[in-house]
Amino acid sequence: MRKNIIAGNWKMNKDLNEAKELIKGIRKGVKKKKVGKNKRVIIAPSFVNLNTAVKRTKKSVVEVAAQNIHEEVNGAYTGEVAANMLTGIGVELVIIGHSERRTYFGETNEVLAKKVDTALRNKLEVIFCFGEQLSDRKSEKHFEVVESQLKESLFHLPKEDYSKIVLAYEPVWAIGTGETATPEQAQDMHAFIRGVLEKQYDKEMADGVSILYGGSVKPANAKEIFSKPDVDGGLIGGASLKKDDFLAIVEAV
Ligand code: PEP
Repeated sequence: MRKNIIAGNWKMNKDLNEAKELIKGIRKGVKKKKVGKNKRVIIAPSFVNLNTAVKRTKKSVVEVAAQNIHEEVNGAYTGEVAANMLTGIGVELVIIGHSERRTYFGETNEVLAKKVDTALRNKLEVIFCFGEQLSDRKSEKHFEVVESQLKESLFHLPKEDYSKIVLAYEPVWAIGTGETATPEQAQDMHAFIRGVLEKQYDKEMADGVSILYGGSVKPANAKEIFSKPDVDGGLIGGASLKKDDFLAIVEAV
């Protein structure tokens, strides 16, 4: 059965001391709230704070993700980080395909397919992000765009690989803008995504994949969005940087 997941993407925020403080708060908070077996709580600090995050969450249910990897396993790629460097320090997940990576770093569906392969081959679970631009939605191309993002980056994989993939639908127009998709818009897209997975693979597989929503989720709107049957939690940006907001969102799923 698929799990509910709340993942906090800290992006390029929090220095070491701030990261330690936030980790401590989240660790204590999830312990108090007794997060059960069907709920996963993930944080994604910057690369330099991953080692600390892994060590400081060891005895808690909090899991640690990186925000990116390079598609090659090693080599002359100055400034980049390889998958095995992450697993080597105990990181078990990686976010791939975030819209900021696509927009600011030119990551294409093709490159993302390679990153997904490299992650899976190196035993990293993938949180795969995708979603349409505002112009796609305005021209009613959002379903088409999302289907091709999935097709071009993921559909070469055998269905068994999806036990190590979490999908995160993030309409670009809702990321960091304060504008959220309505719960109905999120549900429509998530149901569509599950349908596309069923068409490509089968129903059992489609029903087993967790599909997160991302885009300006806050304590005030989380419950309503997560109440939709095909929304299995959220990828949280801004609100994951504040302990109380993040914990309230964890509680809402
Ligand atoms: C994100 O960056 O993945 C995100 C959803 O950001 P925010 O919650 O700030 O919109």
